[in-house]
Amino acid sequence: MTDLHGRIISYLRISLTENCNLRCIYCKPDQCTTNNSDSMTKEEIVSIIRVMAESGIKKVRFTGGEPLLRKDITEIISEVSKIKGIDDIALTTNGILLEAKAKELKDAGLMRVNVSLDTLKEERYRELTGGDLKNVLKGIAAARKEGLYPIKLNTVLINNFNKDEIEDFVNITVENDMDVRFIELMPMGVSAGWIEEEYLSSEEVLKRCPKLEMIEKDYTASPSLLYKLPEAKGRVGIINPISNKFCDSCNRVRLTSSGKLKLCLHSNEEIDLLGALRKGKNISDLLKKYILEKPETHFLKEKKYIDKDMYKIGG
Ligand code: SAM
Repeated sequence: MTDLHGRIISYLRISLTENCNLRCIYCKPDQCTTNNSDSMTKEEIVSIIRVMAESGIKKVRFTGGEPLLRKDITEIISEVSKIKGIDDIALTTNGILLEAKAKELKDAGLMRVNVSLDTLKEERYRELTGGDLKNVLKGIAAARKEGLYPIKLNTVLINNFNKDEIEDFVNITVENDMDVRFIELMPMGVSAGWIEEEYLSSEEVLKRCPKLEMIEKDYTASPSLLYKLPEAKGRVGIINPISNKFCDSCNRVRLTSSGKLKLCLHSNEEIDLLGALRKGKNISDLLKKYILEKPETHFLKEKKYIDKDMYKIGG
């Protein structure tokens, strides 16, 4: 599928649920409610991915909410791994349940995993998320053991929260063959309210770790600029949707857990693909029509923010 701006769309991020077992303060604060009654079933997820694969989607990433809360995730991955044309299946998780599930996920066909981790300090982790850091570390160890490779740790930079841990995160890569990726906090939903105070440009990483050397990107459409410390086993990625937007090379679309297609993370517009599927419409034709309308760019610099938090879309 190619959009009107010549971008080839080959990557689908699909949310399996809005539910989450953490309450990260910039994403899913306590008062947020979740309605999962309209979630896609396993069969619907597989049907939609099959149609998307026929239209050129090659890579699928499962996310949420917390995708490991979905009881049928292993079956979903197993079914999707059999779909012709899908050659990369990845997962984004907070890692809390990963220790118990890593083996069955790998056996089902999961290839790689990104684990979200914004602090290496137990107390801070509890304060930010309400969860226990030890479980995440056990999850990462289990994923490594099962050969879910490469493991990427995703760290959202938050000015008054983890600026002082940047060096510690970078130093993880010295002895570990892992990617540590710093992601700029994006204004959306609840985080839009404190972006002025808490946004930290990823430039801060390079300022604090001047020995980082830029290396070649994995592939052109990757949003991550890659760096390495001399002699390090792992790499450091920087994803800066705000200070250096990468819309020109965006190759992705998203599907919410209720089956709404989002052509751009930062647009409020959603297309009810699941509704169309349930009405028996040809969603392949719909996809081809709507893909053309993928917005050329986001408007974060112009302060046009979306209303939803990430857990409602799929991060
Ligand atoms: N529960 C899974 C996890 O924690 O990885 C998947 C969903 S979570 C919404 C996906 C990612 O979105 C997490 O890494 C989280 O830190 C990130 N995220 C949420 N809100 C964000 C924001 N406003 N800006 C940048 N990243 C955000």
